[in-house]
Amino acid sequence: MACLRVILGDQLSDEISSLRDIASGDSVLMAEVMTEASYVPHHKKKLIYVFSAMRHFAETLRQRNIRVFYTRLDDPENSHSLLGEIARHIDKAEADTVIVTNGGEYRLTEDMKTWGEKLRLAVECRDDDRFLASHDDFQQWAEGRKSLRMEYFYRDMRRRYDVLMEHGKPVGGEWNYDSENRAPPKEGLSPPKPFAVAPDAITTEVMAMVTERFANNMGDADGFTYAVTRGDALAALDQFLTDRLPLFGTYQDAMIDNEPWMFHAHIGLYLNSGLLSPREIISKAQAQWQHGKAPLNAVEGFIRQILGWREYVRGIYWYRMPLYAQSNALAADRPLPDFFWTADTKMRCLRISIQNTIDHAYAHHIQRLMVIGNFSLLAGLDPAAVNAWYLAVYADAYEWVEMPNVHGMTLYADGGDLASKPYAASGAYINRMSNYCKGCHYSVTSKLGKSACPFNLLYWDFLMRNQDQLAGNPRMGMPYRNLARMDAARKDQIRLESAEILETL
Ligand SMILES: Cc1cc2nc3c(=O)[nH]c(=O)nc-3n(C[C@H](O)[C@H](O)[C@H](O)COP(=O)(O)OP(=O)(O)OC[C@H]3O[C@@H](n4cnc5c(N)ncnc54)[C@H](O)[C@@H]3O)c2cc1C
Ligand code: SF4
Repeated sequence: MACLRVILGDQLSDEISSLRDIASGDSVLMAEVMTEASYVPHHKKKLIYVFSAMRHFAETLRQRNIRVFYTRLDDPENSHSLLGEIARHIDKAEADTVIVTNGGEYRLTEDMKTWGEKLRLAVECRDDDRFLASHDDFQQWAEGRKSLRMEYFYRDMRRRYDVLMEHGKPVGGEWNYDSENRAPPKEGLSPPKPFAVAPDAITTEVMAMVTERFANNMGDADGFTYAVTRGDALAALDQFLTDRLPLFGTYQDAMIDNEPWMFHAHIGLYLNSGLLSPREIISKAQAQWQHGKAPLNAVEGFIRQILGWREYVRGIYWYRMPLYAQSNALAADRPLPDFFWTADTKMRCLRISIQNTIDHAYAHHIQRLMVIGNFSLLAGLDPAAVNAWYLAVYADAYEWVEMPNVHGMTLYADGGDLASKPYAASGAYINRMSNYCKGCHYSVTSKLGKSACPFNLLYWDFLMRNQDQLAGNPRMGMPYRNLARMDAARKDQIRLESAEILETL
């Protein structure tokens, strides 16, 4: 008998382990199901991307003469669960075994373990080896360590994969070049136009279906220009490597009004769904430096995001789940303000960053971390609600990568497992790294009163609210020393005005 090989929406790679030994007579099953499409209210552009990329991938398999069963979301026979679709197709496929690569999310992978018993069939769940560090690798690295800092993991990965290394040492003599990176945007800086591809017939059909069936979800189908095939995703990567990579490091943290794309790569969605592989991206980026086409500070900074951060957050997720999802070290419990869905706020930095999100299902790292994330931290928003929002609104969002970035890096909900201190900042940081404060309703230089930037008030209020948990952290010494110098009347005034801001959320 033959095998039925199940391919999920984030497994769109020819190298996926479930396809590796595919034999004649085997079939592939792909299904657009409501259980996966609606467990958070995904942005319309995210749904369009995933469904269209799935349909294109199914076509490439058919071109290889592989028999593909594909269930569309609007198929009246659709059972709307992966298990239901396997049950519905197993006989048609004349198969007695199901082969699947483990899901990227804890919830799904746990569920897969029950499929064999539920289906009364042999179900083989394979490791997802598209990553450079397996779960065992990460566990071995993490076991017994007092602190799980990314920097040490990253150095080990550089050595292991011989990336930007020379005679066992980092090229240029340093492991990272952040001292040359992270410049504020200079006047007149104009990033190149992003990669864009016109929707083809498949994408156009998906756009209509998503518009009709997910009418209340965030965003619009109009303006969908993301790649949905491997060929176009490679073209998007190549365009980044030539046009943007040289200034990637320098302006990694910079933000400019009307420039949502800056010098970032916009490849997270392709990488996370399988159209691109981390290995090819790292090797192409390294080649740009070797051929003198991009400086070391940019190439090292970019490679660190993929070989370091991406692999590391995945490691943390699988090492710490399922408890990680429940973490809430700062006992934050405020509900998400409505403006997270509408961008209707007078705080210009938040309005711009959330509007970018609504328009493109994309915001770059610093908007996610230091504007929206920083606000969520300072305002004490409930980690579970913030987590669900980030998971829904970004086209590259999958729980394994989104959750450590939200719970760990942004909200400090894991109590410092991932970040050595909370990324809390007043309006001064946003003003230094962007032109957002010019034209804001609030004044970034005002610290008290009706016109004061809410980030300025909430920053000190956050430090006071969380003094018991944070004051002992050596990396928080400076802000707490400054707080200690503040007189009691000023502290009371900050508390009062912060409470007013938080109430109006
Ligand atoms: C609160 C918050 C939520 C986030 N949610 C997600 C998410 O759901 N999915 C996601 O892929 N990334 C997430 N990130 C990380 C990062 O912001 C995005 O990967 C990046 O913005 C994607 O855009 P880009 O391709 O232009 O990235 P670039 O800035 O050009 O970086 C290149 C690539 O490096 C990788 N990368 C960079 N930073 C990180 C990081 N911190 N963690 C993991 N990979 C990283 C990504 O694959 C990214 O595509 C989040 C960050 C924060 C602070
Ligand atoms: S003044 Fe404050 S609220 Fe306004 S844009 Fe600047 S940081 Fe944001």
